[in-house]
Amino acid sequence: MAALKPHVLIVEDETALVELLRYNLEQAGFRISAAHDGEQAMVAVQDEPPDLMLLDWMLPLLSGIEVCRRLRRQTATANLPIIMLTARGEEGDRVRGLDAGADDYVAKPFSPTELVARIRAVLRRIRPALAEEALAYADIVMDLVAHRVTRAGKPIHLGPTEFRLLRHFMEHPGRVFSREQLLDAVWGKDVYVEARTVDVHVRRLRIALNGDEQADVIRTVRAAGYALDATPG
Ligand code: CA
Repeated sequence: MAALKPHVLIVEDETALVELLRYNLEQAGFRISAAHDGEQAMVAVQDEPPDLMLLDWMLPLLSGIEVCRRLRRQTATANLPIIMLTARGEEGDRVRGLDAGADDYVAKPFSPTELVARIRAVLRRIRPALAEEALAYADIVMDLVAHRVTRAGKPIHLGPTEFRLLRHFMEHPGRVFSREQLLDAVWGKDVYVEARTVDVHVRRLRIALNGDEQADVIRTVRAAGYALDATPG
């Protein structure tokens, strides 16, 4: 499976802090590049757009706030996830940072663990596929980045609805979902679909997953719904 590491651009003029962040974020599975002032940051973003930017407020040449504003004005970077870092912890600064278009704001000193959690939260909100790369259950693997599913190493071809259905099951293995719950989760609350439609797609998912010889991993719970469950039965 191609492991696609989210690319984080660190923009910070304190070299020691850049190295600390680089170490911790690499450990957490991110790919890191760095820029040391505001102008370098603008160039770095053009050269290789990151998946997320950690942007220090106090920077030489161009402040973090100004970098943030400029990025927001350009179409290509208008939605780039940005977390502002700052030594100033005042509420007014927080508001200014968010006003300039930052997605989140972390005051120094911060713990690397907290920062990693914040980065994951922002990525999950903005780019769900980057926060989690793959789901696995029994011999089934879903690559959420490449949108590929395999069972026992063999590719499984799913339609978009079956893919979302399987993803929902794999995010909550063993849990029984009613048809209504599956409709809300997979089709959305605002879409009117008959409950029977769920049965149709579950059947398609089963056929695709099980082929001729594989054990059935989807359990039908009478009068209740369906669950992903490898228990033979
Ligand atoms: Ca600084």
